[in-house]
Amino acid sequence: MNPLLDFSGLPRFPEIKPEHVTPAVDALLAENRALVDRLAAEAGAPGWDSFVQPLEDANERLSRAWGQVSHLNAVVNSPALREVYNENLPKITAYYADLSQNLALFGKFKALRSAPEFEALSAPRQKIIDNEVRDFRLGGAELPEDKKPRFKAIQEELSALSARFEENLLDATNDFGLIVENESELAGIPADALQAAREAAQKDDKSGWKFTLHAPSYMPVMQYADNRGLREQIYRAYVTRASEFPPATSPEGKGKAEHPQGVGHGCKAAEAATTALWDNTGLIADILRLRREAARLLGFDHYADVSLSTKMAQSPQQVLDFLDDLAKRAKPYAERDYRELTEFARDELGLANLAAWDVAYAAEKLRLKRYAFSDNEVKQYFPETVVLPGMFKVVETLYGLSIKQTPAPVWHGDVRFYTLSDSKGEPVGQFYLDLYARDHKRGGAWMDDAITRRRKDGAVQVPVAYLNCNFSAPVGGKPALFTHDEVITLFHEFGHGLHHLLTRIEDLGVSGISGVEWDAVELPSQFMENFCWEWEVVRHMAKHVDTGEVLPRSLFDKMIDAKNFQSGMQTVRQIEFSLFDMHLHYDFDPDSGKTALQLLDEIRRRVAVMFPPDYNRFPNNFSHIFAGGYGAGYYSYKWAEVLSADAYSLFEESGVLSPEAGHRFWSEILGVGGSRSALESFTAFRGREPSIDALLRHNGMTGI
Ligand SMILES: [Zn+2]
Repeated sequence: MNPLLDFSGLPRFPEIKPEHVTPAVDALLAENRALVDRLAAEAGAPGWDSFVQPLEDANERLSRAWGQVSHLNAVVNSPALREVYNENLPKITAYYADLSQNLALFGKFKALRSAPEFEALSAPRQKIIDNEVRDFRLGGAELPEDKKPRFKAIQEELSALSARFEENLLDATNDFGLIVENESELAGIPADALQAAREAAQKDDKSGWKFTLHAPSYMPVMQYADNRGLREQIYRAYVTRASEFPPATSPEGKGKAEHPQGVGHGCKAAEAATTALWDNTGLIADILRLRREAARLLGFDHYADVSLSTKMAQSPQQVLDFLDDLAKRAKPYAERDYRELTEFARDELGLANLAAWDVAYAAEKLRLKRYAFSDNEVKQYFPETVVLPGMFKVVETLYGLSIKQTPAPVWHGDVRFYTLSDSKGEPVGQFYLDLYARDHKRGGAWMDDAITRRRKDGAVQVPVAYLNCNFSAPVGGKPALFTHDEVITLFHEFGHGLHHLLTRIEDLGVSGISGVEWDAVELPSQFMENFCWEWEVVRHMAKHVDTGEVLPRSLFDKMIDAKNFQSGMQTVRQIEFSLFDMHLHYDFDPDSGKTALQLLDEIRRRVAVMFPPDYNRFPNNFSHIFAGGYGAGYYSYKWAEVLSADAYSLFEESGVLSPEAGHRFWSEILGVGGSRSALESFTAFRGREPSIDALLRHNGMTGI
């Protein structure tokens, strides 16, 4: 039997082979499509059991099977697996696209919404039906027939434009390569970054060191290179990517910066050719125009209203007020940070004017001077063998659970599997932990759902999560050592995991993280990060790998001080981006003659403390909002931080490991999933609406 079609228990990872994928996907799609046709054609009033339930069952089977395939593709990639993955992905996408356009299904959901039966359904089921009706509407299902072709054409054009925006940025980024021949020009850059630059040059059959605009190459130069000219050259190339300025390297001279100082003074013909090739300026206006047109077809005034209709924030004005308020409070701290940095740069680094390409460099020097400790020193106190039990202990104490390693079929020898049980020993949830970086595993850290909690055939299905990280594996017979940042990442992902695993909902559509508003989904994850800054917690999970000595309190205090280093400057920068995004999609008119860059300039004059050079083309590489789904949603980062900090403040008041606070957090936030609005959940937990005070306090922004 095809293991991908076995839904009786945990995935049978060791048995799944690439040749299982296509037959399983084809069988499930055929089955689902037949069911959809049958449900759509059925006469009579649709009910939960006769209509919604079978649809949920069918989609659950498909998403469980395909979820295993995408998971394996991400963590143990191989050419054969990638091939079947790419071969089947379009079929899956097409199925869901057809589903969202199926007017007969939309009609059934609407009928159910207005049937007498609706009022008798549980709150989660009502929410699922409401969400379905909303999503069909946002997908254009209710447009008059003569408007539909235009709406569809806009959607298609938008996805093509977004893809081009991203490609332009990628091509412009990849195009740049700067070869430095003379080692004396590279003073200050750390050895590992130099080694990588050396290898990059060798790959091109060049001598010397090659620097690119990819983060692992760009960042060390900006942070550490003593050579100011080099920093400026690379900065300029970075901030003019995908703009009207010609790339800093000519197409013939790949790998060699031709006229980095002379941008704009090069050969006109060559400029025109490359400029037209990758410039995102026109795409920005086109994307904004089309989003606005689509919003108006749907009956909204602005694209921002469309974006917020599935989010916790209630109106663009509410978001703007929130950002303006935060800006007002953060700005004095940003000004202080900036003043300290300019004075330090002037007095100790001899930089009379702090330029944009000096900021990261000066900040790193100031940080070192103030907080003399290294990541490597701290790392010795965070061996995996102490950190993991420490993290589990936090969760066990807060929620009265126990976490034990249990056997399960896995995809790699390093992967472990755990079961969370309640005080009666009943399993509540289970998770895989795949901690280490290795070849053929996707980068970064993420949580994904393998099985979602629901009631099925009278029994509750225990939820299962994947927790994936890319930490360094153990070496030299010692346990793996984590940096403090990695410990925070682990807590963050575990927070997402708990949101999925501790749900009490019994219907798929709003169980765990399903149906939770985008701008609130980071609440449980960022909430967990707070414990990594709590002495009460840290002293139990930080012991020196060789001596077993507990992390010295003095070192911990230095870490706390360093935590808020320049948080004022960082906050106003995030606010600048968020305001820019929201205004663009709300009260900005791309046809008014004002450009996006001019809008950004106005916003900077209101909230920023640092002003980049005129040639900076930040909008042209802001792919989050033009290519990444964050349009009128970039504020979510700060919004969720406010929620998580404010939620955590109840623990600060009740004792950070208070089981009472823990149970309340479980009942009102983790347990309810998307069954009610995030605002209702938050208010039920905190006894009031969110306030930004805790965030300001956590960021050291009180007292001025
Ligand atoms: Zn997250």
